[in-house]
Amino acid sequence: MITVIGSINMDIAIQTDIFPKQGETVLGNLFTTIPGGKGANQAVAAARLGSQVQMVGAVGQDAFGNELYANLTNENILVGGVAKSSNSTGIANILLNDNDNRIIVVPGANFDVDQRMIDQNMEQIQKSSLVMLQLEIPAETIDYILEVCEKYSIPVLLNPAPAANYKPEWIEKVTYLTPNETECEVIFGTDYETVLKQYPNKIIVTLGGDGAAYHDGIEIVKVAGFATKAIDTTGAGDTFNGAFAHAITSGKSIEDAVQFANIAASLSVEKFGAQGGMPQIDKVMERLE
Ligand code: ADP
Repeated sequence: MITVIGSINMDIAIQTDIFPKQGETVLGNLFTTIPGGKGANQAVAAARLGSQVQMVGAVGQDAFGNELYANLTNENILVGGVAKSSNSTGIANILLNDNDNRIIVVPGANFDVDQRMIDQNMEQIQKSSLVMLQLEIPAETIDYILEVCEKYSIPVLLNPAPAANYKPEWIEKVTYLTPNETECEVIFGTDYETVLKQYPNKIIVTLGGDGAAYHDGIEIVKVAGFATKAIDTTGAGDTFNGAFAHAITSGKSIEDAVQFANIAASLSVEKFGAQGGMPQIDKVMERLE
C-alpha cells in the first residue's frame, strides 16, 4: 500500500489573449476545471499503474470538493483519509495566453492537513510500504509525518516541490528525494552532480526530456528519458514520482524504477493535462520492451 499525504486541488484555467490591467475587465476565450494538486496527481499516477493507493488530505465542503473526492474514487484510490474541512477546496487559478501564464494558488483545505489528521489515520498509515509527500501541505505536518515514519520504519519519498517550502533537515529523514533540476539548485545551491554524490541512492534528480540521474555509491547513473514529442509537460514530474513509487514498492531496483518512471512520464507528456496523460500499466510495458 502506498500512502500519499498531500494536496488535492482544482485547477481553474482561463485562456485569454490579453491579461487584464488593474481595474480592467477583459473577455477570455476558454475556461476549464481540471483535477490537480501534486498529492492527488501522484496518487492517480501510482493507482493507474496498479498500485493500491490511499490518500490522506482535505477538500472543502463545496462543489469542487465533491468533484475531486469522486475523481479520486473513480481512480480506485482509497479516500477514507480525505477529510471534508470547513475551508474551501484548494484551487490553482491559472491565467494562460500564448507565451505567458500567471497562477494564484489558494491552499484552502490543504492547509488543514495537520498533526491531528495524521493521528486519525495512523492505523492506516502504518500499513504503508511507502509514504509519498510533496510540499503543498504545512511544513509542521511534514515534520510530524517524518517523525512517525521514522518511528515505524516506513520508507518515505519526498518530492520537494515547491522547493521554497523545503527544510534542509529533511534530507536525513527521507528514503528518496526527487527534485527536478531547478528544485535541486534552489535547495542545495549547487550543481546536481555534486549533490547526487553526497547522497547516493537517495536523491533522484529529474532532467526533463533527458530523463533522470542518481548516484549509486560508485558513480553517477544517468537513465536516459524516452524520446517523444511533448504536447504538455504539466504533471510530468508527478507521473514520474507516482510511477517510481509503484516500481520501487513492486521490488524493482532504483535503476529499473527510474527507467520505468521515465517511460511513464514520457507517455504523460504526449497528452494534455496533468492527470489526462497518466498511463495505465500496459502502455508502459509496451514501451519498456
Ligand atoms: P517537472 O515536471 O517536475 O518539472 P521534469 O521536467 O524533470 O520535472 O520531468 C519529469 C520527468 O518527465 C523526466 O524525468 C522525464 O522522465 C519526463 N519528461 C519530461 N519532459 C519530457 C520530454 N520532453 N520527453 C520525454 N520525457 C519527458
